[in-house]
Amino acid sequence: MSRKLLIAGNWKMHGSLAFVKEMMSGLSSQLPTQIDYEVAVFPVYIHLYEVITCKPDNVMCGAQNLSEYDDGAVTGEVSANMLADLGCDMVLVGHSERRVKNNESNEEVAKKFAQALKYGLTPILCVGESSVERQNGTTQKIIWQQIKAVLELVGIEKLGQGVIAYEPLWAIGTGETATAEQAQEVHQFIRSQLALNDDTIARRIRILYGGSCKGSNAYELFSMPDVDGGLIGGASLTAQDFMAICQQADRLSQGV
Ligand code: PEP
Repeated sequence: MSRKLLIAGNWKMHGSLAFVKEMMSGLSSQLPTQIDYEVAVFPVYIHLYEVITCKPDNVMCGAQNLSEYDDGAVTGEVSANMLADLGCDMVLVGHSERRVKNNESNEEVAKKFAQALKYGLTPILCVGESSVERQNGTTQKIIWQQIKAVLELVGIEKLGQGVIAYEPLWAIGTGETATAEQAQEVHQFIRSQLALNDDTIARRIRILYGGSCKGSNAYELFSMPDVDGGLIGGASLTAQDFMAICQQADRLSQGV
């Protein structure tokens, strides 16, 4: 089963309106109109509209977070309904920075995943272990707990409508990338666990790698059989760096 590579740029809390315009004009001029992989960017909430307005047609736009609630007295939050209404395609759920700094639990992340689907957004479920957890040999246990919370809430059919991003915490923003073999080992584990629930969905769902991915290591990582693209932080902040990764996806999607 062939899965289209997805290159997703998480801009985190970076940028300005001028930055958005520069990035969008860079991608509009450098990204070919016909591509056989997918590209998405994830700006902060207040820059979503600008991205949606200026982006090339073949770039999708997503938010970095959403509320677990439909609407109401939840000051400072943004609902899935609002994101969909604005024209967002996707949303990140459970990014490790939110799990750690905002104490988001697996259960809360699962509710956000369900909310995204309810309003037609594609959720990207971020999972990953810390360096201590890796050293303790609990990587698989931690990752499966993160995925299982979503599976238990929404079921395998709905989980299969999202995307999973494996992002080892020790590789995020550190310059230390997981080796292609380390990434493949975890991606294969995730897929094999999902296959216990539904083999077709397990083979169809995309699992991205994230953590210091850049133009120089993207090809090797994305060549792995269970790695279906990347969630890119630092290297998504200039059109040049982001395009360097997209070009590797282009090579792979064309089989070169
Ligand atoms: C991320 O935060 O999703 C990420 C992968 O960051 P970086 O590429 O900078 O490690």
